[in-house]
Amino acid sequence: MDGTPAFLRSRFKETFPHSGKPKFFRAPGRVNLIGEHTDYNLGFVLPIALDLASYTAAAPDTQGKLCVRSESEGETREWPISSIIDLEPARDWSDYVAGVARELILAGYDVQPANLFVHSTVPLGSGLSSSAAFEVSVALALLNGRDIPPLELVHLCQRAENRFVGMPCGVMDQYASVFGRSGAALQIDCRTRQHQPVPLPEGIAIIAVNSMVKHELGKTAYRERVDECAAAVRIIQERHPLVKSLRDATMRHLETFGPAMPELVYRRARHVITENGRVIEFVKACEAKDLERMGRTFRESHESLRHDYEVSCEELDFLVETALAMPAVFGARMTGGGFGGCTVNLVAPQAAADFKSAIARKYEERFGTAPAVYDCHPSAGAGEMQF
Ligand code: ADP
Ligand code: MG
Repeated sequence: MDGTPAFLRSRFKETFPHSGKPKFFRAPGRVNLIGEHTDYNLGFVLPIALDLASYTAAAPDTQGKLCVRSESEGETREWPISSIIDLEPARDWSDYVAGVARELILAGYDVQPANLFVHSTVPLGSGLSSSAAFEVSVALALLNGRDIPPLELVHLCQRAENRFVGMPCGVMDQYASVFGRSGAALQIDCRTRQHQPVPLPEGIAIIAVNSMVKHELGKTAYRERVDECAAAVRIIQERHPLVKSLRDATMRHLETFGPAMPELVYRRARHVITENGRVIEFVKACEAKDLERMGRTFRESHESLRHDYEVSCEELDFLVETALAMPAVFGARMTGGGFGGCTVNLVAPQAAADFKSAIARKYEERFGTAPAVYDCHPSAGAGEMQF
């Protein structure tokens, strides 16, 4: 199972035998190097788009329907195109599709009846953003080659997830999927919605290790974190109205207003403020090709996510601690929303093969499940595939 043209073409034909020739669209997943839970606080993030991606093959439908087959879910859904705007969420995977179609219609795009076949090589629910990859590849398929400003595409897909799926996610995942660059990470300013490419120094391999724990728990906890951050902002704002989000807050604010905050809210804010600083620190370390400093920033990020933000779990902590005890590992941290999913590791390339087999063996010994391991190569952003 892969994203090759032959595979997509033949599966599309089997699924929709009476459909015309499809067009193909690709949207990548991402691994976030650093800047976790900072995007919805309008701070900084540093993801790379992956060569794991969601692929959508699409052709017009003659029956007036939007029909979508998800290979990952092994299910097909269809709706009369005229009903989409009035749909209620079904609380399953199809909400991502209906949500994107609705947002396109609301933004004034003419969504035509279509048959979609979706195949994703991004693991679902593992913190590598299968959801944004899915949304963006479906949006491109529904646009069917029509132009859309890239930032509008990002916002439209984010709105689909916020409003229809009901996840109050920030902008990082959709942004990384649309703007990804081969050979570089993206430093995104989630307030200005601008980014700059950050080339990664030679001498490190980026390896994601999947705990295989699905982050189901994370959905409620994510919403709680969003609310806790908003609570911190409200307390600071009473005296500093110019502080609109935790992006604007400093450790000085926190020292002053910390005593007025519940201890939990204080720690959440401390994570976000220090994590924004770590993104800047990490980018500087990349520029200086200082691998040790990059690794140290990773380790500090994990500690902060574990103790202040409390979004790690036993399996992720084990993967991080095990990685850090191995030779030639510069840094390791959980990545994505947390409560399962992946860790991201910075490893000396010559030691990468040993690292992968050793971490897999140790994890399986401890938890009885073999982790999936991915080499992460910064890849290009979403678009139509030409072949
Ligand atoms: P992540 O984005 O880190 O993978 P999320 O919980 O945000 O995790 O999104 C995972 C959900 O996205 C899946 O449970 C599923 O509902 C939906 N999804 C992603 N990719 C696909 C796909 N190819 N087919 C169907 N649903 C998908
Ligand atoms: Mg997601």
